[in-house]
Amino acid sequence: MSDRRIRRITIVGGGTAGWMSAATLARVLGPDYAEITVVESDEIGTVGVGEATIPQMATFNRMLGIDEDEFLRATRGSIKLGIQFVNWGKLGHTYFHPFGHIGVNMEGVSFHAFWLRLKHLGLVDRIEDWSLQSTAGARGKFMRAINAGRSPLSEIAYAFHFDASLYARYLRQYAEARGVVRREGRIVRVHQHPETGFINSVELADGGQVGGELFIDCSGFRGLLIEDTLKAGFTDWSHHLPCDRAVAVPCEGIEGIEPYTRATAHKAGWQWRIPLQHRIGNGHVFCSQYISDDEAISVLLSNLDGKPTADPRILRFKAGHRKQVWIKNCVSIGLASGFLEPLESTSIWLIQSGLSRLMAMFPDRDFDPATIARYNRILTTEYTEIRDFIILHYKATQRTDSPFWDYCREMPVPERLAEKMAVFMDHGRTFRENEELFNDTSWFAVMLGQLMMPKGYDPVADVLSLEETKARLAQIKDAVSNSADYMPTHREFLRQNCRAD
Ligand code: FAD
Repeated sequence: MSDRRIRRITIVGGGTAGWMSAATLARVLGPDYAEITVVESDEIGTVGVGEATIPQMATFNRMLGIDEDEFLRATRGSIKLGIQFVNWGKLGHTYFHPFGHIGVNMEGVSFHAFWLRLKHLGLVDRIEDWSLQSTAGARGKFMRAINAGRSPLSEIAYAFHFDASLYARYLRQYAEARGVVRREGRIVRVHQHPETGFINSVELADGGQVGGELFIDCSGFRGLLIEDTLKAGFTDWSHHLPCDRAVAVPCEGIEGIEPYTRATAHKAGWQWRIPLQHRIGNGHVFCSQYISDDEAISVLLSNLDGKPTADPRILRFKAGHRKQVWIKNCVSIGLASGFLEPLESTSIWLIQSGLSRLMAMFPDRDFDPATIARYNRILTTEYTEIRDFIILHYKATQRTDSPFWDYCREMPVPERLAEKMAVFMDHGRTFRENEELFNDTSWFAVMLGQLMMPKGYDPVADVLSLEETKARLAQIKDAVSNSADYMPTHREFLRQNCRAD
């Protein structure tokens, strides 16, 4: 066994990032590898609003060995099949960005190409009809996949909505049961090695000190260690993503629990709606340059389904990421590492990704600089790729009803996104690059949903005759519709499997 092994790990912060980190380390390293301590301050509190996820979350649960139904019960969670976008391409227009596949690739050619061919001939209308997730979502249906051969029911992609504070509590119990120690207290000072600059310990307001060999900074937006102490620097993307505030408020639920997140665009931002078992989570993400806090609150309160159950809470942020997310013996995870608005529910996934890469590159006390550089490069790429996907929703719009949308429509976009948009506009082709989170289906669904219409279809779609293409697409559409009919309602699924007390 290496004598350079890390034996003390200190996690600063007990929000979603802090407890996801603690649970992961406890699970992967086991009880005897290192002492793991979480320092958090009740006085400071957590952001506590991250409530919508993407399907990769199920992998995280599996890695922890968590039973999915128990997790949904404990967090009063619900199922998410995708996101419904309202008023984004233009006022009154709606589309769905589903998880999973749309249609079926045929003859080695993507389904999108065949569909687009028929679209150009005016023979099809909404692509949603070829996605089980979209169709089931619209009908309020859900079940887990079953072994049904080539039926769409054999592959049902889904994620979760949950109550963020219950999730942190759930993971805390999980981590503490596996030996993680929680230390309550406000950190007032950070002590570094005088020569190396490595972090030695954090000092609490009560005078106590918590040392460590590896520090995970999960202290939220401020980045207590990574920024305040180690001066990582911040890459600011607010010129591409100008929304810089959100107001959040929960409200009473309604009878049907939709199995999807809704994102409704307003005049200077957008509103999320996340249905849980016991309430609906709502928030208005907005750009303070174009709307005041009071107006933003008023827009939110006048667009709720039920009575608010708490006072509206304003959160401030800036889009971007730390120039280095790992410096010396400190790795930042969660909001301490960067922030992209929750339009595609990617923050919790970025926590998950940061943790899985940290485990794959787990350091010893030598903290190899080449490994750290690689980690930083990978995380920067992930942030950048997600950034481009989110910008697409703002840039590709026909809205002309407010200065905010005028700015978004006219703003220059990063070269990589500009190229993706140009390639799509030519023959409707979309590509997933390297390990990019969003695949060609997601790019296709959102580009089309934002009312981008390519000037032609992929010529390779002519491998099938028109008659054959029409017949096969009709068959797939029927199979999707019949599968959605077969599914129970989402409410029934929750009642039978994971109803919270
Ligand atoms: P925080 O929740 O801020 O936790 C910071 C922790 O650090 C706290 O425990 C605090 O006590 C501690 N701390 C800070 N300073 C000190 C100190 N001096 N001493 C001791 N302790 C300290 N993500 C999604 O995936 N899906 C979503 O739908 C989604 N929606 C969002 C909506 C909004 C408006 C915002 C702002 C974020 C959203 N996110 C979403 C992101 C998600 O909320 C965060 O990724 C997640 O909550 C992680 O936060 P965190 O743990 O990094 O930080």
